[in-house]
Amino acid sequence: MNTSYPYDADLHEAGSEAARGGCSYHQEHHDTGAGGCAGEAVVSYQDRQGHWQSGCSAALERLVADGEIEALGQGA
Ligand SMILES: [Zn+2]
Repeated sequence: MNTSYPYDADLHEAGSEAARGGCSYHQEHHDTGAGGCAGEAVVSYQDRQGHWQSGCSAALERLVADGEIEALGQGA
């Protein structure tokens, strides 16, 4: 399970959706429709390939529920 961090634009590749404050989780999953993405990134985390990703509040809940990342404020 990966550590999660409060969203920090500096962790993300310049010019990427994540660096702009968007949610790369839902962008990557092509799931930005109604009820899917909350839009604004609240968490930064590294995926299984070690790439920095950002997630909105819905993505954060999903990732924690799936055991992909720790809940914010834990572990670090
Ligand atoms: Zn999202």
